[in-house]
Amino acid sequence: MVEAMSQLQKEKAQLQEELVVLRERLTLHDSEQQATTTQLQNQVENLKEKLISQSQEVSRLQSELGGTDLEKHRDLLMVENERLRQELQCCEAELQALRAQPAATPCQGCEHVQESTQLRDKVSQLQMEVLENKGMLSELNLEVQQKTDRLAEVELRLKDCLAEKAQEEERLSRRLRNSHETIASLQAQSPPVKYVIKTVEVDSSKTKQALNESQARNQHLQEQVAMQRQVLKEMEQQLESSNQLTTQLRSQISMYETELERAHGKMLEEMQSMEEDKNRAIEEAFARAQVEMKAVHENLAGVRTNLLTLQPALRTLTNDYNGLKRQVRSFPLLLQEALQSVKAEIGQAIEEVNTNNQELLRKYRRELQLRKKCHNELVRLKGNIRVIARVRPITKEDGEGPKAASVVTFDPDDDAVIHLLHKGKPVSFELDKVFSPGASQQDVFQEVQALITSCIDGFNVCIFAYGQTGAGKTYTMEGTRENPGINQRALQLLFSEVQEKAADWEYTITVSVTEIYNEVLRDLLGTEPQEKLEIRLCPDGSGQLYVPGLTEFQVQSVEDINKVFEFGHNNRTTEFTNMNEHSSRSHALLIVTVRGRDCSTGLCTIGKLNLVDLAGSERVGKSGAEGSRLREAQHINKSLSALGDVIAALRSRQGHVPFRNSKLTYLLQDSLNGDSKTLMVVQVSPVEKNSSETLCSLRFAERVRSVELGPGARHTELRSWSSQEHLELEPACQTPQPSARAHSAPASGTSSRPGSIRRKLQSSA
Ligand code: ADP
Ligand code: MG
Repeated sequence: MVEAMSQLQKEKAQLQEELVVLRERLTLHDSEQQATTTQLQNQVENLKEKLISQSQEVSRLQSELGGTDLEKHRDLLMVENERLRQELQCCEAELQALRAQPAATPCQGCEHVQESTQLRDKVSQLQMEVLENKGMLSELNLEVQQKTDRLAEVELRLKDCLAEKAQEEERLSRRLRNSHETIASLQAQSPPVKYVIKTVEVDSSKTKQALNESQARNQHLQEQVAMQRQVLKEMEQQLESSNQLTTQLRSQISMYETELERAHGKMLEEMQSMEEDKNRAIEEAFARAQVEMKAVHENLAGVRTNLLTLQPALRTLTNDYNGLKRQVRSFPLLLQEALQSVKAEIGQAIEEVNTNNQELLRKYRRELQLRKKCHNELVRLKGNIRVIARVRPITKEDGEGPKAASVVTFDPDDDAVIHLLHKGKPVSFELDKVFSPGASQQDVFQEVQALITSCIDGFNVCIFAYGQTGAGKTYTMEGTRENPGINQRALQLLFSEVQEKAADWEYTITVSVTEIYNEVLRDLLGTEPQEKLEIRLCPDGSGQLYVPGLTEFQVQSVEDINKVFEFGHNNRTTEFTNMNEHSSRSHALLIVTVRGRDCSTGLCTIGKLNLVDLAGSERVGKSGAEGSRLREAQHINKSLSALGDVIAALRSRQGHVPFRNSKLTYLLQDSLNGDSKTLMVVQVSPVEKNSSETLCSLRFAERVRSVELGPGARHTELRSWSSQEHLELEPACQTPQPSARAHSAPASGTSSRPGSIRRKLQSSA
């Protein structure tokens, strides 16, 4: 029993030891399992990372365009290189051929030499390019090699990983199998314990106690065994779960493997497609290069043919050049000869021209004289004293009613005739021209224009405005600012004519503005307008007249004229309070002197244009007028009569002309006699209430006009007088009559004197 007990105890101790071992083994297994699991997990992590890095590597390689694009580039460069090399060879061959050509064409600096230098430059440039390309090519080759090596390395690493993984797997399955075996062996150990229990049941009471104790112990041990079993079961469960994990991990590994495989396959596919692309690109580049080659060949052929055609042209050009060189060498000689002959010719021509010029100058002078003669003749035929009438329009100052009705009519077929209805009886007058109220300032100026231009040729001209106050004298001579009269237009015309002749003639135009009031001459441009001026004989004994102290202004433009007129007008206004009245009682004179010099002949001319706005010709009733008014009227009548007398004497070519009878005629003496020209504009009012004055004015006009016409003129004169008698004019009519009396000493210079100025005017300026 004791033995049995000790055996049982031994067994128990053994069992306990075994249990401890088992426990230890179990914990060991547990920790091993855990370690394996973590190791496996780590491995899986590593594999994952590797996979990621692999795929990254693959994509990086792809993104670097892999070796394929670089290769493509390299191939293209190679093709390009080849082409350039060939071109270079061609060029060199051409160069050599050109060098080999006979050096007999020493066309230094010609087109070909330039071309060859260009070609040489190009060749060296191309060579440099080739070298560069070669360097680049080797670099690229190196790069491609490196990339390929790296790829192989990566593949190798991948394979190693796979092998490692397989080994690991093998190891794990082996361990799993061992664990199974251990478990099975542990299970197999249980039946001997049961057998011991049965054997104990058939023993004695003493042993029964021991048995009971043993049974209790056995119970306890059984419980422990059951517990151990429980633990074992748990361990089995754990093992199972770890197995499951392992399978799971395995499946994951296989999934990763398949993924890796797929990635590898994809990579291979891509590499394949890249390879194909590369091949295709190479083919295309080759085809393109071939086409380009062909084009280059064609170009070369064209250049060659061009060269062939250019050679003869070059030869002829060289010949031409040589010929020209020879000509150039002989050119100075030829030039000298030609110059000498041309010089001689020119000298001859100059001489001819000189003689021709002399002849022309002589002819020109003769023509000038002839022209003047013709002009004089024309003027004589036309009558150098012309009389025209101008009828002013009816104004509102004329009032209304029958007294303001027009009594003047015109002949539509004859512009020299005017009809007047005086006290119910018609009277007709024939003058040189009649202007109706509708005539403009320009129309009137047109009529006097020729007279004014003759002033430039050295003729003296007088234009008078005659008529009763308010008949339009000032309007015709001065006009308005908007519509100027003869004065301003005449000066404008002179300016333009002078400008036209400026190439051959030098002209100066000067003006003086004077007034004669009560037989006193005043300078309206002077600083002392109230000063009395005298007309004197020149002290040089030439018999010419001059006015000491008379101001003369030189004018060059319309602005100058306007300034002069304004100045004169201001002087006149400040002097007299009732300007209108004063101006109708005085004669206003604008004296324009034109001095000319012919640049080619040195010939000098002086012409004078006198523009006179006469005092009003109206009669002053004997009863009404006294004192200063009567004195004024007497002076006016005297001067107008003297003017009529002078004109009559001139037109009838009397030996004596009474210039000295008035200041006006005395002042204008040299502008009235000889071949001077005179125009009288007789201004008339058209209304009924002025008909008597109109009759007187027209009668004066007709009488003045008719004087020169010899026997016929006398006839007209007789008719005129008879009509006057017939009309029974009022006795107060003061129409100036040309008188036969000689009031003064014979005027100096009445003998034939040219129309140039004979009086020296002194400028007070
Ligand atoms: P006069 O100088 O003879 O005394 P004006 O020249 O002063 O006369 O003329 C008197 C008026 O008649 C002025 O108002 C003037 O403007 C006007 N007149 C004269 N002639 C004409 C004409 N042809 N057309 C228009 N108005 C005229
Ligand atoms: Mg007036």
